[in-house]
Amino acid sequence: MKPIRVFKFGGASVKSAGAIRNLANIVKRFSAENLVIVVSAMAKTTNALEEVLMHWMNADLTAMNTKLKEIKQFHLNEALDLVEGDSNHLLIAELQTLFNQLETQFGQAPTKGYDFHYDQVVSFGELFSTRIVSHYLNFIGIANTLVDARRCLRSDTSYREGVIDESTSRLLCQREFDFSSANIFLTQGFIAGTEVGTTTTLGREGSDYTAAILANLLDAQDVTIWKDVAGVLSADPKIFSNAVKLNIVSYQEAIELAYCGAQIIHPKTIKPIQNKKIPLYVKSFMEPDAQGTIIAHSDTPVKLPPVLVLKRNQVLITLSPRDFSFVIEDCLSKIFALLYKHRIKVNMVHNSAINFTVCVDNDKLRLGDALEEMKHEFAVRYNSNLELLTIRHYTPEIIGDFIGNRVVYLQQRTRSTARFVMDAS
Ligand code: ASP
Ligand code: MG
Repeated sequence: MKPIRVFKFGGASVKSAGAIRNLANIVKRFSAENLVIVVSAMAKTTNALEEVLMHWMNADLTAMNTKLKEIKQFHLNEALDLVEGDSNHLLIAELQTLFNQLETQFGQAPTKGYDFHYDQVVSFGELFSTRIVSHYLNFIGIANTLVDARRCLRSDTSYREGVIDESTSRLLCQREFDFSSANIFLTQGFIAGTEVGTTTTLGREGSDYTAAILANLLDAQDVTIWKDVAGVLSADPKIFSNAVKLNIVSYQEAIELAYCGAQIIHPKTIKPIQNKKIPLYVKSFMEPDAQGTIIAHSDTPVKLPPVLVLKRNQVLITLSPRDFSFVIEDCLSKIFALLYKHRIKVNMVHNSAINFTVCVDNDKLRLGDALEEMKHEFAVRYNSNLELLTIRHYTPEIIGDFIGNRVVYLQQRTRSTARFVMDAS
């Protein structure tokens, strides 16, 4: 059998009919190969569906219907454009069916928790986009099979953060992606299915992770993430005008960068490909012939320039035991259990005799509950609207340039990495 290659196309690469035509041109070049194509929701659809969900949960049905109508109109317009205005095309009927399924959920008030409903609603972004891309590819003669990711990626019921059961998923994937019957398969990023048939999502921007896990389960030759940038850059060009493209990045570097907030790739993406030493290419869908970045195994350290990663919307929380007891092991384990329970992502920690300070993402829902619980045992202080700047491979000059005389709330340095929590600039 020919090796399998996994392609992932994110929201920007399917943002419109025009973008989908461009995607098709890329796929056409590889149409003789064995491909698994993972597709995200179109443009900002995930955000839009999050809004719909919020309105529904707040019982603001007028706002909900307005947003829903917008999403529907957008998808139908782009779909009609792709099938050259043929409103009788099967694609249009299938989109209508999907919208009916989505809307049926709103016929009654929410009965379960936010995370559950989130996944049943927000997952539709990928269901719409894959239906459109698959039909369009068939329409122009690129035969492909659409696989429902919920039938091949089995997850537990950690809604909004589904954990994939690899051994079950491997069997399901081998069945669904049957390369003896076809050579191009298309599936949804970001979503999976539980044993009882409910939908889960894998965390925002999770389609990269879907691509990586499928590559692992199917023993793919490589993964290519097609993006609207040239590859992995040393910084966001919006914050650092001297940003350069990194040509080669080791798995270890990539996982560190993703963890500290580099937007380029979802943090969970690296493990599945590292475990099987599958290389990952990050390439521009505007310049498919350009070299991009390769993330791969490297025996020798790859020399890199300073790499800057800025994580916004951070909160710095300081906890102090009310009874003036030391913040030592038993107390620390209590604090971490609490953070874990509320699924708070810890970005940086620091402790002293009677203070424990932690820098976390500002996820309002989760944080609110966690802070309430912390207040039972600790005096809690916090600063919000902060930024966490990480500089890998730092030099004194670059720290000077970026920190200058900004107020730094917390900083840490190792030999390779410097991190600063500061007021938002
Ligand atoms: N559509 C999802 C999101 O925007 C997943 C993804 O794009 O990777 O978060
Ligand atoms: Mg997206």
